[in-house]
Amino acid sequence: MNYLETFSPDYAIARERFRAKSLACGYDCIAYPIDRESPTGEELTIDVAIAGAPNPKRTVVISSGLHGVEGFLGSAIQLALLEQQQIIDSRSPDTRVVLIHALNPYGFAWRRRWNEDNVDLNRNFLLPEEEFAGSPKNYPKFNAFLNPTSPPSQLEPYILQAIWLILKYGMTSLRNTLPVGQYDFPKGLFFGGNAPSQTQEILAENLSQWIGNASEVLHLDFHTGLGKWRTYRLLMDASSQSKSHTRLTERFGVDTIEISSTEGVSYQIRGGLGTWCKNLLPECRYDLLTAEFGTYPAIKVLQALRAENRAHHWGKPQQNYEWAKSQLVEMFAPVSYRWREQCINQGVEICKQALSTAT
Ligand SMILES: [Zn+2]
Repeated sequence: MNYLETFSPDYAIARERFRAKSLACGYDCIAYPIDRESPTGEELTIDVAIAGAPNPKRTVVISSGLHGVEGFLGSAIQLALLEQQQIIDSRSPDTRVVLIHALNPYGFAWRRRWNEDNVDLNRNFLLPEEEFAGSPKNYPKFNAFLNPTSPPSQLEPYILQAIWLILKYGMTSLRNTLPVGQYDFPKGLFFGGNAPSQTQEILAENLSQWIGNASEVLHLDFHTGLGKWRTYRLLMDASSQSKSHTRLTERFGVDTIEISSTEGVSYQIRGGLGTWCKNLLPECRYDLLTAEFGTYPAIKVLQALRAENRAHHWGKPQQNYEWAKSQLVEMFAPVSYRWREQCINQGVEICKQALSTAT
């Protein structure tokens, strides 16, 4: 099936299509507004569609847009699933399906990876006893370079060279510093926040009710921008010795599952969604997989993130704002038809594997 049309040009259209199609399928569809508006002054919502069973034994959760702009693909995969309703409706009778559209509606609508408070939501899900403070020890060293307090410029070739130099001389240092998140530079890249986000509050209040009384949950959270072009991997937060690892490799194949924990590196990643969900629902066997689809090389993605962040905080519409925003969208939702088609197809296949009763 050709799913290309399921790719929406913006958040508002994506949301409208998700709602309309969920209702047409006969599923419950609930909107959870956040306290911010879209660039055109419209309401922003996380939308949740739920397909039966009333008392499920097992629930499959499929979520998109935790990282805002990454939601273009996740939303397209969700719509492709709804278009092929039989994929959802052929599930076993004791299985519920929950589709969560745009976990970060602000970032999706404003074309950002971050939320309304500049927060990287996948670093905001700290456990109740954890403090919103601290940064990897080298982040302050990279801060001036990563987060200039000026609008972006298209005439900065030395910036790329500088990034190349960092990669050349400090690859390990950069890897252990950037993606792990920081809690001290509120306008900087990869900021985890000062408090629980609106998204976290909505999940804390409603996740348990969405999944019903299921004792088993399999949650697929769709992302883009990491890994090789047009390929995917499924990241999990557990050791390779764990039962969940065995279970998930049986279901999805040993080659696609990758452990994302930081075993062996100096800084422990905090605030990821999966650990938080497990902690919220201790009675339940909760497996979360982050499905990551590769786009461009990390160096280009970082350059685009940096430019967009400058445009967002320090730019005006005439100061390369649109250039920075559209460059960011290309990094996380490439226009390439081959990329889109293959990634949506792979995404739908992963959902089918998640719904399968085979294991
Ligand atoms: Zn992501």
